[in-house]
Amino acid sequence: MAKKTIGGAVIGYGGMGNFHSNKMLEVDGIELIGVYDIDPARHELAKERGVSYFDSREALLADERIDVVVVATPNDAHKEIVIDALSKGKNVVCEKPVTMKSTDLDDMIAASEKYGRLFTVHQNRRWDEDYLTAKKIIEDGTLGRVFRIESKIHGSHGIPEGWRSEKKHGGGMLLDWGVHSLDQMLTMMEGRELLSVYATLTNITNDECDDGYSCLCKFEGGVEFVSEVYTNNFIQMPRWYILGENGSALVKDWDCNGEIVKVVNWEKYDIAPVAAGAGITKTMAPRTKDTIKTFPVEKVEADWSAFYKNLVAYINGEEEIVVKLPQQRKLLKVIEAIFESAEKNEVIKF
Ligand code: NAD
Repeated sequence: MAKKTIGGAVIGYGGMGNFHSNKMLEVDGIELIGVYDIDPARHELAKERGVSYFDSREALLADERIDVVVVATPNDAHKEIVIDALSKGKNVVCEKPVTMKSTDLDDMIAASEKYGRLFTVHQNRRWDEDYLTAKKIIEDGTLGRVFRIESKIHGSHGIPEGWRSEKKHGGGMLLDWGVHSLDQMLTMMEGRELLSVYATLTNITNDECDDGYSCLCKFEGGVEFVSEVYTNNFIQMPRWYILGENGSALVKDWDCNGEIVKVVNWEKYDIAPVAAGAGITKTMAPRTKDTIKTFPVEKVEADWSAFYKNLVAYINGEEEIVVKLPQQRKLLKVIEAIFESAEKNEVIKF
């Protein structure tokens, strides 16, 4: 029997709403039925692009052709729309951050259980090639026991204008790029207990919302993870820096340029002192070529439609959903701990 094509719709037809409607047009097994946005100008744009639109949210949610609704509104509008869509019997994909507080997420999870519908979150950056490449280096054991991972996402344009710079809408970089970086951290560290978080926030270009943060998360087994997002950096830092007992890895950019340096001779101790600043040092002397080996980073290729393919396969009963709600709850708990740590200037223990 031929499989039914899943009917999809998007609420909030802005930048990401357009991304989602394009994905529904592109991926096999799902079709775009239409979009809705509170801003009439977005309807005009949909019309120009030949995308069907609904005059109201009620009309969209009442349409029986629609199996799955994507919520792509600003962060503060997610909760109410998600619960409304679930209550009308729709499967729901919500943009990240799923909401701003873990207690609100609990209400959303309760609604998905009550109405027996799928509820998942668009954590698309689990398929970023730089992230998958860094994850593979760690999991391969190439570096031996990894003890520190630094994930740095740096820009120089400040925080974008509009709802992203207003607290009431869930603005700020922690709730924006931070959600991606920390979701990647938690999936990379899956199976390890998170022990503590210490964080600072920056307000360089915006007083109301953070325009960057840095946090140090300690995991069991002696692994430290630094997650950092800044928007006022004019010199690019490496995207990933990974330190292991037997080597170090650098994934410099989104294209996965970088190198892995492995120690091949730990025993060679006849180090000559070198000049360093106003003194000399043996400890910090560069390694001689015969004690290390340098390898290029092997990029992991990813399918950027993988989130949608998994969604379609899940609805057809063929796969488990990849982005699960307990992970998203843990993520919001980490974000809450970061805000608390920065405010109190304290380490938050889990
Ligand atoms: P945007 O401002 O471009 O679009 C938001 C749209 O929602 C606007 O057109 C606005 O009119 C509409 N809207 C607001 N309230 C509404 C309501 N109650 N009902 C219907 N429409 C409403 O913002 P964006 O960049 O598209 O971000 C939307 C969401 O997507 C945010 O949660 C953001 O964090 C997320 N996002 C995710 C990614 C990602 O890579 N996963 C990237 C960017 C944004």
